[in-house]
Amino acid sequence: MMRKVCANCAESPEFDSSCMATCPTLKCKVAYDDTCRHFRYSLYMKYFTIKELCASEMAKKYHIDNTPDSGHERNLRLLVVRVLDPLREVYGKPIYVNSGYRCERLNALVGGVPTSDHVKGRAADITVHSREGNMKIFNLIQSLGLPFDQLIDEKDYTWLHVSYRETGNRKQILHL
Ligand SMILES: [Zn+2]
Repeated sequence: MMRKVCANCAESPEFDSSCMATCPTLKCKVAYDDTCRHFRYSLYMKYFTIKELCASEMAKKYHIDNTPDSGHERNLRLLVVRVLDPLREVYGKPIYVNSGYRCERLNALVGGVPTSDHVKGRAADITVHSREGNMKIFNLIQSLGLPFDQLIDEKDYTWLHVSYRETGNRKQILHL
C-alpha cells in the first residue's frame, strides 16, 4: 500500500485508490481513507452551509422552525464532508440542495415518509438543474467511490436523493 503525506496537515493517510474523497481539511487533494485522523474528526464544510441544507419555502410559508438539533447538524456535516463536498470539488460547478434537513412537521407537510433520512439530517435532494448534469453527478458519485447509504435517481434525473450514515452504508442505488 502506498503512503502519502499531506503537506499541509502533516497527516499521512493510507492511500486507498477506491476512495477519491479529498482531505477534509481541504488543503490538499491527497486521496485518503478513514484511517486519516482528519477524515474521522473534521466536520469542516467547504461548499455547503447548514443554512442551505435547512432552507425550505414550505417551512417559511407555514412558519415552521426547521432548525436542526446538534445531532442532526452533525449528520448534515458528515453528509457534506464525506459525500457532497468531495463530489462538488471534482464536479467543479455549483450543486444545489432542494431539500436537506426536514423536521418532522415539515417532512409530513411535504409528504415524506416518517422514517425518511431527511428527518435525521442524513439525506439531501440535489440538482444541477439539468437531467444531463444530474446524470453526470449520479455517475460521478459512484465512479469516485464516495460512500453513501442510498443514491436515488428521482423521476428520470429530475433530482437526486443521496444519503449517508456514519456506519453501515448500504450503497443502495435506485431509480424511482
Ligand atoms: Zn430525498
